[in-house]
Order: sequence, then structure tokens, then C-alpha cells
Amino acid sequence: MPAGLRPLKKPVSTLEDYRRALPGSAFPADAVALTIDDGPHPVWTPKILRLLHKHHVPALFCMIGNQVLGHETVARDVVRDGHQVANHTWSHPTEMGRRPHRHMRRELARTQEKIYDTTGHAPNLFRSPGGDWSPALLRTAAKARLVPLDWSDDPRDWSRPGVAAITRRLLAARPGRILLCHDGGGDRSQTYTALRTVIPALQARGYRFVALDHRHP
Ligand SMILES: [Zn+2]
Repeated sequence: MPAGLRPLKKPVSTLEDYRRALPGSAFPADAVALTIDDGPHPVWTPKILRLLHKHHVPALFCMIGNQVLGHETVARDVVRDGHQVANHTWSHPTEMGRRPHRHMRRELARTQEKIYDTTGHAPNLFRSPGGDWSPALLRTAAKARLVPLDWSDDPRDWSRPGVAAITRRLLAARPGRILLCHDGGGDRSQTYTALRTVIPALQARGYRFVALDHRHP
């Protein structure tokens, strides 16, 4: 049985945390990372992929296993475009950190298997739904050799607060941050419209979008 990772006391939420958790990874001083959760989605994921392609921006897609199911082509397109994929559970349960161990393990393993079977890529990163963590969940992730990942900048785009609010919150990002957005879970037109402004605006500031999962460049 392969050895697990050393469990972290808290999930990675900045690029500095990431560098410390995964020695050997390095980011330029002006780096920011974009993470996109809850897909793949047949409408919003392709639109966001086209936008990322246009601006040469890599992103990490935190995929839900039961969304990969039925949207396999979309999941493959994400990887084909050179983006990274993370494990975001099978069914996106609430209070993931308080689930019985068996349940946690199954959520992770089933998703890992589905993403690998679909894309040929085995994620190294795991994001808990809603950022719900516990020591037990951190241990389970480590045993599954998954690095726990949070975020630093949350525009709460899932709640559809309006394009202006999402844009403003994302433009508050600074170098070293990990930004959270969503391509799944409902109508993501506000997120998409905000990103059309935010990506070139952050690039114009000199920020560089970086890929997170360095073991799969
Ligand atoms: Zn989510």
C-alpha cells in the first residue's frame, strides 16, 4: 500500500501555503491562481474554456464526480486545453468534515476513479465542498495522497450577487492569492461576464495566472 502524505493542520489557501505543503513548487512573485468549482457543466465550462484560451490563462477545475458523469467530453476538453483538475467529491455533500470516515473515503475514491477513467489525469488536490474541513477529513485526504485546497479570495459568485459585485471582489486580489469561481451549480452567466473583465484587468496589472497542480505541468 502506498504511503499517504503527511496530513496538514489546515488546507492550502494561498500560493505560499502551497509552496510550503509541496516543496519544490515555486511561483513568480506576481502569480495568482484561478480555481473553478462544481463543474463540468455543458454550457458554462466550454464558455469559460474559450475565455481562458483567449487570454492564455491556466486554471484548476475542481470537479464533482457526479457532474463528470454524463459530461465526460466537457471534462476531457478541460484537460485537453491544458488545465488542471482537482477532486471536489462525488456528490458535493454539506458538512463533509463531519461525515463518517467510510463516507469521506468513498466520496474521494469514487471521484478520483471517475476523473482518471475519463481524462487520464489523477488529481493531486482535493477541495472540500464549502471549505468544510476537520482533522478527520484532513487525515482522510492525506491517506488518499490528496493535498487539501481552500482559497483566499471568494467573490461568492455562486449566490449571484451581480456582475459588479463579483468583479469588484475579484479585482481585490493580490499576488499570491488563490481565487474561487464556479462553472457549475446553476446559471453562471454572472461569473462568466465578470471573468471577461477581471482576467484582462489582472493581467494588465502585471499579475500572472499560474497552474496549481505542479506535478502535472
Ligand atoms: Zn463546490
